[in-house]
Amino acid sequence: MSQAPERFLADQTAIVTGASSGLGQACAIALAARGAAVAVNYRSDADGAADTIREIEAAGGKAFPFKADISQEEDIKALFAATVETYGTVDILVANAGLQMDGAFTDLTKKDWDTVIGVNLTGAFLCMQEAVRQFRKQGMRSSRALGKIIAMSSVHDVIPWAGHVNYAASKGGLSMLMKSAAQELAAEKIRVNAIAPGAIATAINKSVWGDEEKYKELLKIMPYGRIGETRDVGEACAWMASDYADYMTGHTLVIDGGMELYPEFIGNG
Ligand code: NAD
Repeated sequence: MSQAPERFLADQTAIVTGASSGLGQACAIALAARGAAVAVNYRSDADGAADTIREIEAAGGKAFPFKADISQEEDIKALFAATVETYGTVDILVANAGLQMDGAFTDLTKKDWDTVIGVNLTGAFLCMQEAVRQFRKQGMRSSRALGKIIAMSSVHDVIPWAGHVNYAASKGGLSMLMKSAAQELAAEKIRVNAIAPGAIATAINKSVWGDEEKYKELLKIMPYGRIGETRDVGEACAWMASDYADYMTGHTLVIDGGMELYPEFIGNG
């Protein structure tokens, strides 16, 4: 970017879960570039969290790391308490932490199911609850909204995914969690939205984009002709959290290079 980014999130604090890598890292960096102080949550990758913070600070931003397992209610409470203690408020939550544990339908164990639902859906729910409690406590401040929540969903909140039923179920659930919460909380000026990325090159899907043959196959379902980059999502996240998106709630922003556009219909009939 040639000129300094507009600091439209100045005087606001964001929590980004799973911010030691991939999309969470990109969201944390983009939010900080727009002026937000950021709590960089990580589960075990302290080096990744340090990388996120280094990049934020090099650009003149503010961030601190916090280790918390998003599937654990006590850890979530501790993350919010530490953020309030460090920066005074929480104005933005990016419920990004997520994982896949793939397998054929009858091979998936209950543990595989519970772990994926426990982080991707229950973890997001618990973080959202805690965020809303904090928004109410602090009242209206430096934004037109009382608070902003962005859930990191997936195109698989609408596209079924064989071999990944736990993941698709978690993201489908997340979509309805987001919309129902948005409906319930709109009168309080709390905005709840989601981002649905298609395929963005991160650790979660390295086995696909890191393999030439698999990547070629993947391109067939991406009309835009390339895999996504993490900043494609980070910049959108910062904008969604800003007052430029103040009238947007209950919305899923699809960032997928056209993956949801039924690409198999290109030239077909
Ligand atoms: P990633 O593996 O780099 O990031 C996932 C992050 O979540 C990691 O930092 C991981 O440590 C964290 N995490 C996992 N379990 C956690 C827990 N219990 N507590 C705290 N943190 C935990 O992959 P990514 O692609 O950046 O994924 C980020 C989000 O984006 C996920 O929710 C994923 O489902 C979603 N997503 C990614 C893509 C893609 O193509 N990369 C597409 C659609 C949706």
